[in-house]
Amino acid sequence: MSIEVVLLGTGNPLPDPNRAGAATLVRAGDHTYLFDAGRAVCMRMAAAGTLPLMLDAVILTHLHSDHICDLGDVVTTQWVMGPQPKTLPILGPTGTRAVVDGLMAMLALDVGYRRAHHADLDWDPPLDVREIGRGVVLDDGTVRIIAAASDHRPVEPTLAYRIEHDGDAVVIAGDSVPCPGLDELCAGAGMYVQTVLRDDLVRRVPAQRFVDTIDYHSTVEQAAQTAERAGVHTLVLTHQIPSPMAGSEAEWLGIATRAFRGRVLFGEDLMRVTTESA
Ligand SMILES: [Zn+2]
Ligand SMILES: [Zn+2]
Repeated sequence: MSIEVVLLGTGNPLPDPNRAGAATLVRAGDHTYLFDAGRAVCMRMAAAGTLPLMLDAVILTHLHSDHICDLGDVVTTQWVMGPQPKTLPILGPTGTRAVVDGLMAMLALDVGYRRAHHADLDWDPPLDVREIGRGVVLDDGTVRIIAAASDHRPVEPTLAYRIEHDGDAVVIAGDSVPCPGLDELCAGAGMYVQTVLRDDLVRRVPAQRFVDTIDYHSTVEQAAQTAERAGVHTLVLTHQIPSPMAGSEAEWLGIATRAFRGRVLFGEDLMRVTTESA
């Protein structure tokens, strides 16, 4: 049984008509996990054939807005569609509890309206928020998820994840420069999904706020170097910065293949990749 990855959103923080915000679905065995919950995540989940009620957990890489801005939609939709209470685990780095507390404060009026209107909906969204660090964060005997520190400073702490199932392994990395945590997780993995930036293009943008983003993301070349060091089979480029021009995919792939001998995929929304095909 392979692990299936669906890129729900490959966009960066700037709105893009064709790319939703950061979010990746991982299906392993009977389990479905959502990594990050950026813009339009529920729309893309519906397109991928998954509803929030079907999630076993939401797992956050970090608390930048482009990775969590639609978490409220996931929570609300999971709650209102449930025939009975079903706990939704939300795992993330330190700070996740404060974010979810704030989110629930924002949703309090809505929760009240709906509970008052629907006699059979007599519970609040049942969440299990867990602030996690490095190490095994989930293990049910068939799927194991291991976290390690990524490096997206000054955003701290941030986490990347390795999902293991039936001899296969997939790494989901949020925004990060190359670091020992990524190397550790990626070692021998079948697939490595990395958010990436083209520094050659970003440097040309006459806006310092944009240029600032270079120092805390992996460039395409750096992601490829991490993949090569770790001996992964397939590197998937996602959350591309800047938003790629139509027809430029080969250019992005060409930069990666100069540093990585494995397979490289240029992420598009709703692309599915399995470790079998990887
Ligand atoms: Zn991001
Ligand atoms: Zn970020």
